Amino acid sequence: MKIYKAYKFRLYPTEEQRILIHKTFGCSRFVYNYYLNYQKEKGIQKAYALCKDLKELEKEYEYLKEVDSCALRCSIFDLEDGYKNFFVKRSNYPKFKSKFARQSYRTSCIKSTYKGKKYSNIEVDLLTRFIKLPKLGKVKIRGYRNKDKIEGKIINSTIIKETTNKYYVSVSVEEDLLVENVTPRSIVGIDLGLKDLVVTSDGVKYVNEKIISKYEKRLKRLQRKLSRQVKVSKNYLKTKEKIARIYAKIRNYRKHYLNYIANEIVNEHDIIVTEDLKVKDMFKEKVKAFNKRLSDASFSKLCSLIEWKSKIKGKHYYKIDTYYPSSQICSYCGYRNKNIKDLSIREYNCPKCGSHNNRDINASLNILLEGLKLHYNLESIV
Ligand SMILES: [Zn+2]
Repeated sequence: MKIYKAYKFRLYPTEEQRILIHKTFGCSRFVYNYYLNYQKEKGIQKAYALCKDLKELEKEYEYLKEVDSCALRCSIFDLEDGYKNFFVKRSNYPKFKSKFARQSYRTSCIKSTYKGKKYSNIEVDLLTRFIKLPKLGKVKIRGYRNKDKIEGKIINSTIIKETTNKYYVSVSVEEDLLVENVTPRSIVGIDLGLKDLVVTSDGVKYVNEKIISKYEKRLKRLQRKLSRQVKVSKNYLKTKEKIARIYAKIRNYRKHYLNYIANEIVNEHDIIVTEDLKVKDMFKEKVKAFNKRLSDASFSKLCSLIEWKSKIKGKHYYKIDTYYPSSQICSYCGYRNKNIKDLSIREYNCPKCGSHNNRDINASLNILLEGLKLHYNLESIV
């Protein structure tokens, strides 16, 4: 099975390299915006046709020749992807790129052979901790201390300057992975919620960490401060960077926590069932918009992590219909108790069979059973 992975390193450019990186950001953005405007006026064209036109543009704007030409072509292909996503309604109409947002450019890996020797314009050396990048040469990196090389074939790399003013490089790699399907021996159903982020059918809970509320006050204060400052003044940018740092902290923390949960679940179980999260009735609950957005993102991120990790470990991951009333059905007798819609009821006795149900565990058990019903002939599993 071919899989795609990204390795993200912190990047430490020298002053000279930093200037060139910024020039490349600028030029890639210019090309992107130029062709966005061009297509708005002259109609949409294939990326290859625009790449041809780029040669003319480079004659007109000499400075485009100073930077990595691959990066400029990648901009054109990114724009094409933007249009594709728009047409299949996955995203909005492509927007002009701004100088003040997170900056990035992508460049593709080109390999060649000369006199029997192999060359590549992107190479990662984890022993000396350098990455070779087109035009930039060797740039210092940090990350993946426990690895001595990256497996697989490098496809491209993206150079990023975050709003925190830190530089990163993300290297995409294609790897051929031998995956053997695991014979299922253990099953788990997973209920996702706001109070407990995850409740598994065997009763394990992962709490929704209070990391956001920890920073919420500080964020609010900084945002108020920002709104009073003169736009794009030195102090304004300073406050903006502070805000970006806090967001980055929350993001990193969540990423780490979600990976930890997904790893534990996938390592310990062979069949994993969750709900398909399009609409969840718990969002009718009054939740602060801020928390809701983050939880939304966490749920889908967690599910995609579980999906991905199951795939590369040969395990089975299933989603069940969102509208399945997992919390209303008694997992012992199957009786549907509509009163349980009320989210304040955490535990109850089933009016039909009398068994004591914990709301979340009962829900995760139902998710498990429904997943099995949909994907397996129950008698074939013992
Ligand atoms: Zn019952």
